Amino acid sequence: MAQDNIESTLLENRRFPPSDAFTRSTRMQAQTLDQLYDKAAADHEGFWGDMARQEIDWFKPFDQVLDSDNAPFYRWFENGELNVSYNCLDRQLETNADKTAIIFEGEPGDVEHISYRELYQKVCIFANALKNQGVSKGDRVIIYMPMITEAVVAMQACARIGAIHSVVFGGFSASALKDRIEDTSAKMVITADGGHRGGKIITLKETADQALAEGCDSVETVIVFRRCGNDITMQADRDIWWHDAEKNQPEHCPAQAMQASDPLFLLYTSGSTGKPKGIQHASAGYLLNAITTMRWVFDIQSADVFWCTADVGWITGHTYVAYGPLATGSTMVIYEGVPTVPDAGRFWDVCARHGVTIFYTAPTAIRALMKAGDAIPKSYDLSRLRLLGTVGEPINPEAWMWYHEVIGQSRCPIVDTWWQTETGAHMIAPVPGVTVTKPGSCTKALPGIDAAVVNENGEEITQANQGGFLVIRKPWPSMIQTIWGDDQRYKDTYWPYFDGKYYLAGDSARRDEDGYFWIMGRIDDVLNVSGHRLGTMEIESALVAHQSVAEAAVVGKPHDIKGESVFAYVVLKGNRPDGGVDEAMTAELRAWVADQIGPIAKPDDIRYADNLPKTRSGKIMRRLLRTIAKGEQITQDTSTLENESILLQLQGKA
Ligand code: ATP
Ligand code: MG
Repeated sequence: MAQDNIESTLLENRRFPPSDAFTRSTRMQAQTLDQLYDKAAADHEGFWGDMARQEIDWFKPFDQVLDSDNAPFYRWFENGELNVSYNCLDRQLETNADKTAIIFEGEPGDVEHISYRELYQKVCIFANALKNQGVSKGDRVIIYMPMITEAVVAMQACARIGAIHSVVFGGFSASALKDRIEDTSAKMVITADGGHRGGKIITLKETADQALAEGCDSVETVIVFRRCGNDITMQADRDIWWHDAEKNQPEHCPAQAMQASDPLFLLYTSGSTGKPKGIQHASAGYLLNAITTMRWVFDIQSADVFWCTADVGWITGHTYVAYGPLATGSTMVIYEGVPTVPDAGRFWDVCARHGVTIFYTAPTAIRALMKAGDAIPKSYDLSRLRLLGTVGEPINPEAWMWYHEVIGQSRCPIVDTWWQTETGAHMIAPVPGVTVTKPGSCTKALPGIDAAVVNENGEEITQANQGGFLVIRKPWPSMIQTIWGDDQRYKDTYWPYFDGKYYLAGDSARRDEDGYFWIMGRIDDVLNVSGHRLGTMEIESALVAHQSVAEAAVVGKPHDIKGESVFAYVVLKGNRPDGGVDEAMTAELRAWVADQIGPIAKPDDIRYADNLPKTRSGKIMRRLLRTIAKGEQITQDTSTLENESILLQLQGKA
């Protein structure tokens, strides 16, 4: 473990209080929030117990809030019984049945509005179809679907009968899919003939066939939804069309009573820092924090049109597409395709046409759309937007400012939400009517979340702006239960230090004089330059603040004297093709970084490219860049890498 704290160099002093108009219209007032914090601080379990009674409809009440006997395998709401799908759908039927649950828009432009009653029926019929195909409580079901309503129907149907779903992003390859099928020993795969993405048809069934060609012996049935009508082959003894499986199935399906800690789903992490981990989430605790964060962070209200752009293949698409919006009876948008079809105005067009009020996306999308220029968003009516959010990576302050000014028209608060697949829901994030935001900071931990920055002994770092390990010191309801089938890896990854008492997030962070959290990067990525430990985020943000730079990634390269030197990969604005070297620009950027944050952070090497290696969820894979900087061969797991070809360009082989 590292010896020293991580030094901060970023200077960011801009502050944005919520407007009076926003504060007046919000659900959460400062006083109420203070009460929540006080209550949680005084009685952590009592606080979450009350929340769980208030927000969840239980079939049978729990008799213990938290069981820590077998820590770190914590169990929340012991002996309580519930059903997550019941909490999303059945409880809307009485008063909200005709309300629109989903506004679906396909990439080709097809639009469909689905009410809560219709969604309930779809889920029940499909749940009965699953049962009819032999799926029962505890069975694992792989969902490999395009971003269409039926992906949510499939997830909800699994939840309804107690099957454990594991969604695999539709862009993943056959081998990534095969790994996940085998790791979960799934009994069924639910897929589609194809999906529309980037103006093309993604041939999902064909890829699933390749995955299933060898091994995957656990799979008995493949259900295929017809989305694109592309040619596929059906294997007689294994494959069945969705519409055939649904034939003669009743419109009601009783919701299976589940124990609070029965697993709801498995989901693999993005693979930014290593081989993806199969994260297991429980039913009740997960549902609870999906709901509380919809209320606290998204200020969700009955008239809102909520749009989270994440695919259901990621945790964000679980909590803020498949579960949170439905569990709070909200209306949400689901969009099938990419932001650039037919052009870079698609997101803004969808917002304008469907009257989106809350918009939630990732920094990678913001940077890409920012690169396309201001004129595009300015040509759409974005006046209905009232709140913006971001997740997935630290957002560089310059991208934050663009989002704020150009998309939010300086009217909408931005919620920068820090959380992970493992945490299940937002952990550190602003409460938009109350929190004064600062570009690049995820601000403060939510009520009942005990986040801290500690040194290697687990002592809280009290000095402002000294970086350290981001930890969570008390269990929280939506926490990871374990890594599927690998309890030891769960303990080793998340509870290795601090006597196993604190959850280690794997990110480094600092807190400023106001106690705000600033994520500095991944622990694995911290640089050590002449004895100074530097996070990647701040140097990258300084580079992105230069007018010619669109994106940047920074890694350490071994250096005889300094220990490590700063190696930067830079994408210039205006799609300038790979320049490899550009001495004038390099001199300018080195001087710029020295000026912005100090000579210590000045990159020794800068390499230009037209993109960076990213996970399919859009995160920069610095571990690959580190290997390239060293001039070594890449032998690591690249199963979640989006753009394989960029590696060749970066290595100078393309
Ligand atoms: P793996 O664990 O396989 O390496 P991953 O960590 O990228 O992949 P996710 O669970 O999708 O997988 O991502 C969580 C991580 O994303 C966090 O640990 C953090 O590094 C980053 N992150 C998410 N939201 C934010 C945010 N608002 N600000 C800064 N970083 C964020
Ligand atoms: Mg991670």
